Amino acid sequence: MKTNRRISLADPILGDEEKRALAEVIDDNWLTMGDRVRAFEEAFARLHGQTDAVAVSSCTAALHLALQALGVGPGDEVLVPSMTFVATANAVLYAGARPVLADILGLDTPHIHPQTCARLVNSRTRAAIVMHYGGYVADMDAWRRFCDGHGLFLLEDAAHAPGVAPVGQASDAACFSFFPNKNMTTAEGGMILARDPDILAAARNLRCHGMTRVTLDRHKGHGFSYDVVALGYNYRMDELRAAIGLVQVAKLPEWNRRRSKLAGAYRHLLAAALPGVLVPFNPEAATAAHIMPVLLPAGADRTGVMASLLDAGVQTSIHYPPLHLFSHHRKLFPDVSLPNTEEYGRRVLTLPLHPGMADEDADFVVQALRRALDTAPGQNRTAAEP
Ligand SMILES: *Cc1c(COP(=O)(O)O)cnc(C)c1O
Repeated sequence: MKTNRRISLADPILGDEEKRALAEVIDDNWLTMGDRVRAFEEAFARLHGQTDAVAVSSCTAALHLALQALGVGPGDEVLVPSMTFVATANAVLYAGARPVLADILGLDTPHIHPQTCARLVNSRTRAAIVMHYGGYVADMDAWRRFCDGHGLFLLEDAAHAPGVAPVGQASDAACFSFFPNKNMTTAEGGMILARDPDILAAARNLRCHGMTRVTLDRHKGHGFSYDVVALGYNYRMDELRAAIGLVQVAKLPEWNRRRSKLAGAYRHLLAAALPGVLVPFNPEAATAAHIMPVLLPAGADRTGVMASLLDAGVQTSIHYPPLHLFSHHRKLFPDVSLPNTEEYGRRVLTLPLHPGMADEDADFVVQALRRALDTAPGQNRTAAEP
């Protein structure tokens, strides 16, 4: 069936308010680390039941700074998922510590879990980073008990889950991304939440070269010199991005509701049309519905299905190729074998999900997926996919 409809995987929503906010920054002629960055930090913190936050240049920078602010470094081990974006583990490497990759709980719960981590803990383990895959919040009560029991820091890679409780409330640090395909965007950007003000102060210092005073303080007349108290970085956020973020953060709750509603619609349509396609997670669970991952039947030709969907105007993706199988990381973790993560990585397909989609779009995608699975020559597939 030929169609002109195109349904993209994820689309940022930007408009006149963002344009006006950017124009105001240009008129004000103060471009970085000013009042808008501060206001964005406060608004983002408030949305998560906190009073303070530290805005940075990306979630990757946020993870690096959070680890360093907590004192995680050389000689330490950090529990991380392999079913995540590669930055989760890379941040641990930047901090000089060793990522220890854990398996997901199961195909229907693609989160790492205390149950899959217990045997990986030893005297060098200092922290665990949970990732709220798909926007579905990890079992934070179980994680808090586990980390307290073993004396570990608990960090959240919350790139998929801004604005959904209890994200940012039960961990030692939570890190967010505002990349364009996330639930809200500043183009590039990230944020750190932490309950301990000392951790936020350390992160704030490290994001700007470890300097004791930043330019705005000096501009406002607070001192003429500064000291450098640590090896810091340039991980700052600028005023243009913060201006966009202030507009977007106000819309996030409504967008998250729309995402959840679309995810619910997908679940019903998939259950009716394609009972062999598994949709992970409990439909009742708290979620920011960041993506719509499904598991194709074992042995389905995923590449053929994706090509056929693209022909039908439906863009799809894979979240994620397990990171321990990447060429670079394979060298670092030659002996790691994670059966559930690897099977999940072979079968997962991410369907379009973003608040700009219409209700009929989910139906269109599911019908296109049904046709693609009918026609893709997958049943007699012999070779294992990489
Ligand atoms: C997008 C993403 C990141 C990286 O975010 P950046 O802001 O691009 O650095 C990290 N972890 C996860 C799970 C992500 O989805």
